[in-house]
Amino acid sequence: MPELPEIEVLRRSLEPLLVGERIAGVRVRNPALREPVDRRRLGRALRGRQIEALRRRAKYLLIDLEGGRTLVVHLGMSGRLTLEPAAAPAARHEHVAFRLGNRRRLAFRDPRRFGLVLALPTRRLAADPHFAHLGIEPLGPELTGDRLRRLAHGRRGPVKGFLMDGRLVVGVGNIYACEALHRAAIHPRRSVARIAAARWRRLAAAVRATLEQAIAEGGTTLNDFADGEGRSGYFQVSLRVYGREGEPCRRCGRPIRRLVMAGRSTFYCPGCQR
Ligand code: ZN
Repeated sequence: MPELPEIEVLRRSLEPLLVGERIAGVRVRNPALREPVDRRRLGRALRGRQIEALRRRAKYLLIDLEGGRTLVVHLGMSGRLTLEPAAAPAARHEHVAFRLGNRRRLAFRDPRRFGLVLALPTRRLAADPHFAHLGIEPLGPELTGDRLRRLAHGRRGPVKGFLMDGRLVVGVGNIYACEALHRAAIHPRRSVARIAAARWRRLAAAVRATLEQAIAEGGTTLNDFADGEGRSGYFQVSLRVYGREGEPCRRCGRPIRRLVMAGRSTFYCPGCQR
């Protein structure tokens, strides 16, 4: 499943290619995505409009159009969004395509069809049910140690589950939670009620650094992901703990251990994570 860094890589790779282009037409071959695509509404909202900006909220790609409309795309489990020559035949599972003015098309492919394509009024995004419950952005200025500490106030339970709760902080999936906790030297099972202010600050910095490293390295290929121009990322070469059970910790040399938390494989170093 594409994670937040992959969506950010996709956003950055598509942005210079899409901003200023005009959507000439919309073709929906198969509307049966996670939510049915409303052909007429989508066409009416997008056709003829120029693309003004590409933003991201959690794992949603937001393509802002002139006239106060936003095309919202979520890749679900297996979605891909790529630029193709307009004349190229549709690939298998290409369910929705946006024809651009420059003889290219923005193609949404999704074999498993858990993805999402819809148009919303830009000013109503924040209150829309897709977005209203989302936690803070891990790459924005709102992610600070103090903010995490306040979010944890009155809560119990392990810090790893806290980090992965999208209603609190978005975009920290299983791999990134493991990696960030190792970077912050915090045990994944440690209760959020027993983390002091300095460690929250360290954790906020670790989450940001982990995601930024993944973005810099181009997203992970663990999920068969490619960015808007078809290049693949390679984040897994520099994983600290994830998938490294029995291998030496890069910091202290102790073997990395695996445990299962909330049904998910969790990797940590018993030497340096407390
Ligand atoms: Zn270690």
